Amino acid sequence: MPDIPGPGSSGGGIPPGPVSPRGGTRPDSGPWAGAAGRLTGLGVSQGRTAGPVIRMAGPPRLPAPHAVTDPGAEAATVVKALGAVAADLNERAATTQGEAAEILEALAMIADDPMLREEAEGRARDGLDAPHALDAAFTRHREALAALGGYLAERAADLDDLKHRAVAFALGLPMPGLPAPGHPYVLVAEDLSPADTAGLGSDVLALVTERGGPTSHTAILARGRGLPAVVACKGIMDVPDGTVVGVDGTTGEIAVGLTQEEAAEAREREHAERARLAASTGPGRTADGHPVKLLLNVGSAADLRPGAEGVGLFRTEFLFLDRKQAPSFEEQVTAYAEVFRQAETVVVRTLDAGTDKPLPFLGLPEEPNPALGVRGLRVDRLLPDVLDTQLDAIAEAARATGAQAWVMAPMVTTIAEASGFARRARAKGIARVGVMVEVPAAALRARRLLQEVDFLSIGTNDLAQYTFAADRQHSALADLLDPRQPALLDLIAMCAQAGREAGKPVGVCGEAAGDPLLAPLLVGLGVTSLSMAPVCVPAVREALAGLTLEECRERALAALDQVW
Ligand code: PEP
Ligand code: MG
Repeated sequence: MPDIPGPGSSGGGIPPGPVSPRGGTRPDSGPWAGAAGRLTGLGVSQGRTAGPVIRMAGPPRLPAPHAVTDPGAEAATVVKALGAVAADLNERAATTQGEAAEILEALAMIADDPMLREEAEGRARDGLDAPHALDAAFTRHREALAALGGYLAERAADLDDLKHRAVAFALGLPMPGLPAPGHPYVLVAEDLSPADTAGLGSDVLALVTERGGPTSHTAILARGRGLPAVVACKGIMDVPDGTVVGVDGTTGEIAVGLTQEEAAEAREREHAERARLAASTGPGRTADGHPVKLLLNVGSAADLRPGAEGVGLFRTEFLFLDRKQAPSFEEQVTAYAEVFRQAETVVVRTLDAGTDKPLPFLGLPEEPNPALGVRGLRVDRLLPDVLDTQLDAIAEAARATGAQAWVMAPMVTTIAEASGFARRARAKGIARVGVMVEVPAAALRARRLLQEVDFLSIGTNDLAQYTFAADRQHSALADLLDPRQPALLDLIAMCAQAGREAGKPVGVCGEAAGDPLLAPLLVGLGVTSLSMAPVCVPAVREALAGLTLEECRERALAALDQVW
């Protein structure tokens, strides 16, 4: 990883002193006491680090056309802009692998297309300024592609991204999209899509966004990568590029205007703390030896880390977020087998598409209320082949690797959905079949569900969203999404009780499972496993080892008694 450039800048446009939007005051002690200013958001992925800010630019706004005095110069700018876009994409392709590299190369070729260049140049020579000439040329090409229909029409949206990049260059603005400054940095954005987050390079030290909720999939992906992350941080987009900030992904605090020395110390401290926690190993146990399986939430084999007792949630949709073409059976077998080979037991979740995780290759229609629409297992109502192919691929990957594959469906609401899913999965030869409990209806019928399936896995992120009717991406509703809410704990307790009666496992795989303060409480409610981002495992193991089962139960009872 290259060095971070110096010297550290001052806090730029951020006012000194307490600037927390939540009324927080500026502490005069602690590791970043010398910071010029502070901002506060929601810490969603633990860890502390520091580095220079680079903001991810949004699409440029096209100003009103201006009178052109030198059409030749405008035409030259057009050519330069298209060349810069192609060069930037090719550079990214060179440092990326696999399909992502191929996509970047294909986009670079479009930017380099002589027909596009001639059209834009011609419009500039006819009197349009460079940004408008580019805009007009891209718009015409987009229309032509869209008119062809089919696969080419799907590529039309790619032209918008290229247009925004070329127009930004012509206006002298930073190109939209993920920055590639060539040194480690703190990525700041208004919001990030899961696809953006999945594509982050290794030079990103931390993420800070102005919008977003605590259990949004962007937060989950950051946690999966072990990147400290803060969302809902009002004012962060006003921090100028290059300003050195400290990011605390646990408290949500951002210290603005650190020196390079302070930043280097913060990174070293974090490194030492992670090394200390990583030294803890062994299965999950309370202080009196009650076993609680500690499992991993992963999106691909790249997320796997040693030290856990298996994979409790393999979010298969993360493999295909950017895809415009459906992944083939063979491709799926390869991806699943890669995880199966490296973990003893793996709970594979079938594709959970919809809301903030659109899978373009499914071609699902737009919906007025996507979170309440066709997502998760409900996609099967429209596209049954997708689930069949996936179950076949999971079964084949398990056979090929000799792994114990468990499979579960997301967003199950009724007993009929659970039994239909179980029947199809078992018919493919998958031995252990379960469902996620993410909708209150499923929790209320947990006992009956367990007559159909072998296990339950509670997705507290969605279960909170649907219990409290609070969008999990909404930063202003974080209190309603708090997993300590007694109504949510009641639902978890019902599921755990049903599991005890049936003698079947009931785990938690939502983000609550990875919180060292909440994990003992969930164990006290009776859950048998906790599945979390790999970075969370050591702290949860340490927390459980410090309490007896009885103490966990006392914590659970106290939490159920709280008035919110
Ligand atoms: C959940 O909803 O808690 C869960 C684990 O699924 P996801 O976060 O992927 O929706
Ligand atoms: Mg979910």
